[in-house]
Amino acid sequence: MAGTLDTDWALGWIRESARVIAAERTHLIDLDRAVGDADHGENLDRGFTAVIGKLDDADAPGTPAAVLKVVAMTLMSTVGGAAGPLYGTAFLRAATALGEAGEIDAVLVAAMIGAARDGVVVRGKAEVGDKTMVDAWSPAVDAAHAAAEAGADAAGVLTAAADAAQAGAVATEPLIARKGRASYLGERSAGHQDPGAVSSAMILRAAADTARQAHG
Ligand code: ADP
Ligand code: MG
Repeated sequence: MAGTLDTDWALGWIRESARVIAAERTHLIDLDRAVGDADHGENLDRGFTAVIGKLDDADAPGTPAAVLKVVAMTLMSTVGGAAGPLYGTAFLRAATALGEAGEIDAVLVAAMIGAARDGVVVRGKAEVGDKTMVDAWSPAVDAAHAAAEAGADAAGVLTAAADAAQAGAVATEPLIARKGRASYLGERSAGHQDPGAVSSAMILRAAADTARQAHG
């Protein structure tokens, strides 16, 4: 179907995420050094490296949801700290939202992003403005639904989501953290972008870039 995303897109998304996380490992570590314990880049790089190993070993997953389930399970078991369970839940909810679909259209990809965000919120109980990854995911969900309603294709929905997530991550800089390790710093957490919001924006950008490549 024209303009839809398939299992190859899901595999490409995850490989591109792993590549970007590895390339930005030091950047994410530096962000987490300012407001946390300097391990976010290391945690995610270890997790995504393990994910790629699993995907290389396993029989090729038959659906996009099957790809995202491998990601969820592997991140939960290999990424320590806050981010592992949060991203694990996000990818698991995303997989559940996709169900057995082999082709993902604009409305379904927006629903997938919404389900991922809801998983993060259920797990971490953070609200918008608490200076967490929710500050990237929530504007991404709003932008995704708006783009789908305006008639964008799936790649367009992902691009809108990635743009909004990136802006949301930048906008965490002046905020005072109210959840997670950064909240221990109180007012001293202000003046730095939240590492999880930045990595979330990278992962959504990887999804959009992969979708655009697939459609030329
Ligand atoms: P840890 O904080 O255990 O060292 P990481 O450094 O890997 O784990 O991840 C930190 C990121 O996790 C933060 O930048 C923030 O985005 C996210 N985070 C932490 N707690 C929460 C929460 N309760 N809800 C949503 N996101 C959270
Ligand atoms: Mg940390």
